[in-house]
Amino acid sequence: MNLEKTRNIGISAHIDSGKTTLTERILFYCNKIHKISEVRGKDGVGAKMDSMELERERGITIASAATYVSWGDTDINIIDTPGHVDFTVEVENALRVLDGAVLVLCGVGGVQSQSFTVDRQLSRNNVPNIAFINKLDRIGANPFRVTEMLREKLGRNAIMMQIPIGKEEEFQGVVDLIKMKAVYFDGDNGEKLRYEEIPSDLADQAAEYREKMLDELSMFDDDLAEAVLEGIETPELIKKVVRFGVISDKLTPVFMGSAFKNKGVQSLLDAIDSYLPNPTEICNEGFDVDNDDATVVLSMKDSDPTVAYAFKLENQQYGQLTYIRLYQGTIKKGDEIINNRTRKKVKIGRLAKMHADEMIELNELKAGDIGAIFGVDCALGDTFTDTSIHYRLRASHIPEPIISLSIKPKDNKSQTNMAKALNRFTKEDLTFKSYLDEETSETIIQGIGELHLDVYIERMRREYNVELEVGKPQVAYRETITKEIPFEYIHKKQSGGRGQYAKIMGIMSPSGSDDNVFETDIKGGAIPSNYFPGCEKGFDAMMAEGYYTGFPAVGIKMIINDGDFHPVDSSQLAFELATKSAIRENYKKAVPAILEPMMKVSIDVPIEFRGAVLTSINQRRGTVLETRDEEHLAIVVGEIPLSEIFGYGTALRSNTQGKAELSIEFDRYERVPRNLEDDILAEIQKNKEAKK
Ligand code: GDP
Repeated sequence: MNLEKTRNIGISAHIDSGKTTLTERILFYCNKIHKISEVRGKDGVGAKMDSMELERERGITIASAATYVSWGDTDINIIDTPGHVDFTVEVENALRVLDGAVLVLCGVGGVQSQSFTVDRQLSRNNVPNIAFINKLDRIGANPFRVTEMLREKLGRNAIMMQIPIGKEEEFQGVVDLIKMKAVYFDGDNGEKLRYEEIPSDLADQAAEYREKMLDELSMFDDDLAEAVLEGIETPELIKKVVRFGVISDKLTPVFMGSAFKNKGVQSLLDAIDSYLPNPTEICNEGFDVDNDDATVVLSMKDSDPTVAYAFKLENQQYGQLTYIRLYQGTIKKGDEIINNRTRKKVKIGRLAKMHADEMIELNELKAGDIGAIFGVDCALGDTFTDTSIHYRLRASHIPEPIISLSIKPKDNKSQTNMAKALNRFTKEDLTFKSYLDEETSETIIQGIGELHLDVYIERMRREYNVELEVGKPQVAYRETITKEIPFEYIHKKQSGGRGQYAKIMGIMSPSGSDDNVFETDIKGGAIPSNYFPGCEKGFDAMMAEGYYTGFPAVGIKMIINDGDFHPVDSSQLAFELATKSAIRENYKKAVPAILEPMMKVSIDVPIEFRGAVLTSINQRRGTVLETRDEEHLAIVVGEIPLSEIFGYGTALRSNTQGKAELSIEFDRYERVPRNLEDDILAEIQKNKEAKK
């Protein structure tokens, strides 16, 4: 395998901007067009590709997590990045294995609410990307404006590499600003590229935008700057600089077209080939478990020990597939590798790649490549290595669940099926958790949003025939303290035989972050250090189950700086109990507070409904952070506490005749207003009682 000619890419987009259509076109041009030219080569007769075939091709659902296509001599692995914000973990796991991405934007809507989320995800994972402005055939499409939005709203250094020929219904093709040629996409399916002189009415505009492009690019490269001054810049030099800008994540070149009308897709494929990095151009790091988790750079060499990462689990028509990306080494059929989380050995039975909708069996998979293994028991995010090393790759940023609800199967069969479903979902999605509440014998599921849980409940019903009773969603609160207080506590018990004795003194205070901090600062051996772990254990236990609400406590710091012990009666346990009691006794004095999840909401809505949206946010203890108008749309960004957001989607739909588009994302934990604290405490208490 030629790594230089390999691309591992994702296609990221706001919903409805045409990601599916574009992906299908990519599959189409990469496969069928290939075949056409072969046929033509053999018998000299141009193959006929009618729209019927295209229609059939359209029927392909791009269900697999990674599919590969060939564009010229370049192999492109397209990794599916699920779009919905409620599944950020799936998205981030997929992003973890990409080397580059195409950011698709709608030519009319431009940078929309989810574009911000996608943009954040790409930049958090340092994924170099290029932009494709789609739907230029639609009324109101304007790639110049969308490029401006990329610059202003997303702070991208976006430069147009093309300008459109004709607009809306008259959209015909693009001007390539490097070649300075017009490109048209002829044939029933746009499969025939025709290069022409730039239409005369566009010549000035093309010159202007080429100059803009060269100006921007000159910032990256002195050679290019000089060449431009002398007027001797070559396409090769320009492309080299664009490639550099993209790979160093400082530049977003902008391409455009209409996937639906079969225009511009091949040029985008050329751009993927020319500008997005190959696997060796990205530095990937892992951690060496045997060496204190020291950072190691993964070599991407076939000959090094194997390191592979499971980024997606999928139940398919072919059975249970685990999609992996190989960072170094080679995996062959029959090889034994180990799962570094469980330390279990796994034998590679079958190995495959998905080629569009076909499965291709492989004998081996090499560094830099993406494939799937069969029937392997593992969780999302596991790292596999050969037996000589124990590496793990950075766990993706995994959000904690913030919402939970109870589910009750209606009969035994549902019970069994529910267990199966939960087992699978919790493996596939690390933000989805389930457990049995010992006190109430209820099954509780937890997730990162209302919709997140809804989707799984619906899937249990449909895919697993589970009949369920579903409880009300409950917020996962947190608690903290707000005041610094000194404490002193003596734990003393004398009940015949050996007693218990421990004395601790110190300070409890807000830690200033979300973390809990435990420290000791003992001078002169007032407490021997072998009792510290006992203290810390007590502290951790109290933090895990907060003393105010019963939800975990965060942002608390405890320093033990003095105390006393008894040579016979002191023990780890005595110090653990002393610490727990010290916290209990002083917690109230440190003025505890409840924290609630605060959700960022972003709503796109026709302008006439803006008022209704603002009111709806205010009614839910929310704050409006930003409103702006874009043509006929108002975009409202605000925050609403999670407890107030249940059912918001439905309410919004009825307030706006179904025309609002809402995206919700967890932002942070925030202190509940004082006047509501008692109500929330009462509610928490009520929920506890109700369960008993
Ligand atoms: P996704 O949600 O991003 O995957 O978007 P889809 O590919 O499902 O497209 C959403 C809708 O936009 C569908 O009705 C498509 O037919 C339509 N669409 C996609 N690309 C284009 C385009 O280039 N022009 C026009 N006019 N419509 C398009």
